[in-house]
Amino acid sequence: STQEKTPQICVVGSGPAGFYTAQHLLKHTQARVDIYEKQLVPFGLVRFGVAPDHPEVKNVINTFTQTAHSDRCAFWGNVEVGRDVTVPELQEAYHAVVLSYGAEDHQALDIPGEELPGVFSARAFVGWYNGLPENQELAPDLSCDTAVILGQGNVALDVARILLTPPEHLEALLLCQRTDITKAALGVLRQSQVKTVWIVGRRGPLQVAFTIKELREMIQLPGTRPILDPEDFLGLQDRIKEIPRPRKRLTELLLQTATEKPRVEEAAHLASASRAWGLRFFRSPLQVLPSPDGRRVAGIRLAVTRLEAVGEAIRAVPTGDMEDLPCGLVLSSIGYKSRPIDPSVPFDLKLGVIPNMEGRVVDVPGLYCSGWVKTGPTGVIGTTMNDSFLTGQMLLQDLKAGLLPSGPRPGSAAIQALLSSRGVQPVSFSDWEKLDAKEVARGQASGKPREKLVDPQEMLQLLGH
Ligand code: FAD
Repeated sequence: STQEKTPQICVVGSGPAGFYTAQHLLKHTQARVDIYEKQLVPFGLVRFGVAPDHPEVKNVINTFTQTAHSDRCAFWGNVEVGRDVTVPELQEAYHAVVLSYGAEDHQALDIPGEELPGVFSARAFVGWYNGLPENQELAPDLSCDTAVILGQGNVALDVARILLTPPEHLEALLLCQRTDITKAALGVLRQSQVKTVWIVGRRGPLQVAFTIKELREMIQLPGTRPILDPEDFLGLQDRIKEIPRPRKRLTELLLQTATEKPRVEEAAHLASASRAWGLRFFRSPLQVLPSPDGRRVAGIRLAVTRLEAVGEAIRAVPTGDMEDLPCGLVLSSIGYKSRPIDPSVPFDLKLGVIPNMEGRVVDVPGLYCSGWVKTGPTGVIGTTMNDSFLTGQMLLQDLKAGLLPSGPRPGSAAIQALLSSRGVQPVSFSDWEKLDAKEVARGQASGKPREKLVDPQEMLQLLGH
């Protein structure tokens, strides 16, 4: 029968990993792919992570939408795997299951004072300005003069840029429909008093984790000037020749910004800047310092470090010196982290990934993984795409080799019955398209590509659920 030739596959998570894996699996002309997503809306970090002033990055959504429109693909939002349905239940209903649920936790600082009001994870802060429902209550107090961001990756620079974008530049972005930042976040940022942002790293200029595009954007941010200490760059000029590209170009730009005299017009721009950002190297957080009444953050104590080569790796070790940096806001941006979602799935708690061989989950035939839950939380959408295609390829190879269960599987029909018995009501891709149209219409009034819906109750109501 045709059913026997129909491989039923499901993917958990609808971020880039989920959609790119589905796209590859659909190359098999009979395969059916169901995508389960715990949010009401698709696209993972493309919607809830990528900065609101980077609309071009979000164009991948067009490709994902094409995939979702395939008549052999279905999206089931509002279904949290591990809570509403278990992984063994999915394995029973499908020939193969791919876990692509990303990295939803953040790496804790593990220092005293971390719990003080005014200390946030960059993950939560990003979720707040991007409309992630669970972070809408964050209410960051931006009435302070100085903010400290711990970590020197692209997420740190995104957050610094959003914090420092002058209100008139935000208005300009709105005028040309270039930001979908939420209305609530925009309101708070317009009132922001933050003038200086320190971006702190344990290691030096050669170890920063951000890329040149994001650095250039910081350097060119209107009304804002960079603060770099030329001493941090001593000796780098001589070493620059040996550094492989693209780090060489990044280091050159840092060095140039730190040491070269600005040209006349640049000097004028810098002199008129009312805001500043600085990279603070060789500093590791020891303690968040409380205000005298103990009720909020007033600063951060940093250990001064120096670099030590340990085997292949370069590590920062404390010198014994310390430095206190006054600030009213601390954002920790030292990494995202995956969590285990089902006790039946092997999980490496230390590395924060599902142990796998090229996407095949070790010791569990028929179970696969892709994206950040497979590789750890590094790399851009392009990296995630390649990685997801690879997992898709392994799965199709196994299918061809007869390594997956034979005989028909019920697929979504069985899962829908289970969900319905548990009172869970999934939303479809066409439901998302209704919400999408609503968001776009709401955005038009305020000159935005969309005004995101942030309240799940309101979304369900709009859908008539
Ligand atoms: P995710 O995108 O996180 O997708 C995982 C999905 O799984 C989510 O939709 C989640 O809701 C869902 N899920 C989680 N748990 C469950 C569950 N139990 N049941 C069902 N569903 C579940 N890359 C770029 O190329 N350009 C950028 O400008 C850029 N900016 C970034 C900014 C930030 C702040 C961050 C964090 C990352 C950025 N990236 C950027 C990187 C990019 O977002 C990642 O490479 C990519 O999103 C990883 O894809 P993923 O599918 O593995 O994870």
